[in-house]
Amino acid sequence: MFEEANPFESLQEQIDDAGAALDLDADILERLKHPERVLETNLTVEWDDGSLERFKAFRSQFNGDRGPYKGGIRYHPNVSRDEVKALSGWMVYKCAMVGIPYGGGKGGIVIDPKEYSEGELERITRAFATELRPFVGEDKDIPAPDVNTGQREMNWIKNTYETLENTTAPGVVTGKAIESGGSEGRVEATGRSTMLTAREAFEYLGRSISGATVAVQGYGNAGWIAANLLECNGATIVSVSDSSGAIYNESGLDTQAVRHHKDDTGSVIGFNDADEELADEELLTLDVDLLIPAALENAIDEELAHEVQADAIVEAANGPLTPRADDVLTERDVAVFPDILANAGGVTVSYFEWVQNRQRFYWDEDRVNEELETVIVTAFEDLVSAYESYDVPNFRTAAYVVALERVVQAFEEGGTFP
Ligand code: GLU
Repeated sequence: MFEEANPFESLQEQIDDAGAALDLDADILERLKHPERVLETNLTVEWDDGSLERFKAFRSQFNGDRGPYKGGIRYHPNVSRDEVKALSGWMVYKCAMVGIPYGGGKGGIVIDPKEYSEGELERITRAFATELRPFVGEDKDIPAPDVNTGQREMNWIKNTYETLENTTAPGVVTGKAIESGGSEGRVEATGRSTMLTAREAFEYLGRSISGATVAVQGYGNAGWIAANLLECNGATIVSVSDSSGAIYNESGLDTQAVRHHKDDTGSVIGFNDADEELADEELLTLDVDLLIPAALENAIDEELAHEVQADAIVEAANGPLTPRADDVLTERDVAVFPDILANAGGVTVSYFEWVQNRQRFYWDEDRVNEELETVIVTAFEDLVSAYESYDVPNFRTAAYVVALERVVQAFEEGGTFP
């Protein structure tokens, strides 16, 4: 048995690797490995029967050198202080990788949202938003959706903030519904950047997405859109999964039909056009051209990494590989295209949403998608150029080299205060 990796330690290791490639001073590196501050709070919500329930929640503001803290809020029973710290750090380097003017933050509530009604979730969300109010703002810290949160929660956060502040400030949070100030294309953005990264990656490797076989772990917002857009680009999606298990069809799954099945039944399992059902580990070790982990951290550990048969991995989830898995896959020549580029479409279109909110001028979906494509393709070129010019073992370290350099430059330009 291998020990479960601590995501915060994984983040620090990734920063160290890039710091070594850049020959950065230890004191600067040290500063970039820790959050500036972490809010830990206990939300107390009163139910209709008068009983009280307590929920632990966090918001980590990791680094603000390049702009306001930015990043999602997740609702999950496994949320922890270290997980939130790691996720907030990954946001710093993600925003820097794609060159958008934000720092990084992340929040979470320790909760299984499936156990609560919509009304209960609204009270919990508003309690968190009230607690967050002094720390967030259009120019301070801008939350967004993450695992198990979406437009609904963002609309509640915006409304709570605006009510308490007696103002309108739609850019205090992104990922809102359209009529609440959301952007066209935001819901699809994470899956879209995953597809764009896969397309650029395959071209770089001298291959084509058209005709490639793909397995996708996780059929939430990011996973299903990535699968659907890759199918539209001619790929064959042979297997997809969710927390209940995986389905497989050698000649390709109809991603839209699988989505309808999941909407109707709550799971991909039982889809009538599947040849067989697989365990999650079986999906992750299928002999496919492209594997897309689109679920949670640590999906592939050292042990599983030895079994992976895919030629390339594009990370739609945050932190799906442990550092030891990364080492194994590097050694085995599996090309891994990292989360901080591949799933950066979400925060990139959040940035577009925030720009539109502040200008009170809204773009159509074509413009959003075109601007997103420019950002991701440019970032991919930056990644490849770092990969080719620095002594780095893989694309992840190359990505951190690009990102770290940008954060360090902003820090050095600003200097320290006091
Ligand atoms: N939660 C998403 C991420 O991990 C989006 C963050 C955002 O839009 O600020 O990148």
